[in-house]
Amino acid sequence: MMKSTTLQVEGYERVVHFEDEAARLNAVIAVHDTTLGPALGGCRMYPFANETEAVNDALRLSKAMTCKNALAGIAHGGGKAVVIGRPDKDKSAALWHAFGTAVNAFAGTYYTAEDVGTSVADMEEIATVTAYVTGRMRPRGGSGDPSPYTAYGVFQGIKRAVAHKLARTDLRGTHVIVKGLGHVGWELCRLLSDAGALLVVADIDSGKVERAVKVFDAHEVHHEEAFAKATDVYAPCALGGEFNSVTAALVQASVVAGAANNQLSAPQAGQILHDRGILYVPDYVLNSGGVISVAAEIKGDWARERVKREIDQAMGVLLDIFARSQAENLPTFMIADELALERLRQAKAIAGRKFSIGNVSQAI
Ligand code: NAD
Repeated sequence: MMKSTTLQVEGYERVVHFEDEAARLNAVIAVHDTTLGPALGGCRMYPFANETEAVNDALRLSKAMTCKNALAGIAHGGGKAVVIGRPDKDKSAALWHAFGTAVNAFAGTYYTAEDVGTSVADMEEIATVTAYVTGRMRPRGGSGDPSPYTAYGVFQGIKRAVAHKLARTDLRGTHVIVKGLGHVGWELCRLLSDAGALLVVADIDSGKVERAVKVFDAHEVHHEEAFAKATDVYAPCALGGEFNSVTAALVQASVVAGAANNQLSAPQAGQILHDRGILYVPDYVLNSGGVISVAAEIKGDWARERVKREIDQAMGVLLDIFARSQAENLPTFMIADELALERLRQAKAIAGRKFSIGNVSQAI
């Protein structure tokens, strides 16, 4: 029997805590804003210490999705789901069926997808119960794992950042450190290597590092020292929180551009990068390729080349961000937030609704 409790959170359209003892489901779904369309954001599975942590994560991630989707140019608002549990031990068909029922409670105002701790196979299980799921298997008409599209967007963003900062028209001979050789990082290495970039790689998994050294003719660096090694581009593709005021003061790159969410653990870190003349490419803009791919699946017209073109187009906003950052002498993350909010304010004005949002980049 599913129990649901609606939480009243200012600035959020709908936040619900779901519990189903028999299915061992303990989850939160947060819909932040649906001005641009039904909320879209992945389902994260993580062993949160308590429900407060899970709610806070759902709140900050769903708000970030509102801005990410607005700048990605897709007709979706921001939402996110978090399931409390260990991805390697606590998954079951019953859990995902109960989660699908929770998604149905939003009656199409929230679409779920893969995120940290969930997979295409999990989406298939959820799809037996709800139609509001994307990132499904290719043979079943889905778009598959969004990670290669995230990597493609990061690659396109790096090209634009290198052109802007280093005045290079291609990546041949450009030194790039990729930290995190997972779904996104590995594919990014492949694209960079094919483009002639010179790679240095890091991961806590030494097996992945060994393989990358062989496959991409890369050098390796210890994962705790990667950020401090001199390079043209530093690409964090592991976990968030890469930069605090100490690490931001030490990084030795001209450009910081990676897939990891929440790279700035505090706004000061972004300010320090800016003051040091390091071009930080805002994470939620750079890593939006995946959500562009799963949004095309929802529209029912997913096609690889068209999705890639849409990602290329979405990365165009980076040029505005870089130019405004330079002209106004403000960090790029602030400009990205401002641009996202401008788009939302315009849409709200058309819809005749009031809109306010606090800090975004800092809260992702
Ligand atoms: P993943 O779990 O497949 O890969 C993460 C990799 O980072 C793993 O190889 C892991 O061993 C490594 N790692 C973990 N901690 C590390 C550390 N301290 N130092 C070095 N390496 C470490 O994840 P992913 O799907 O590739 O996503 C990578 C990042 O990009 C995440 O922050 C994710 O939130 C973000 N992101 C991913 C997508 C997507 O489409 N997959 C979309 C948007 C954002």
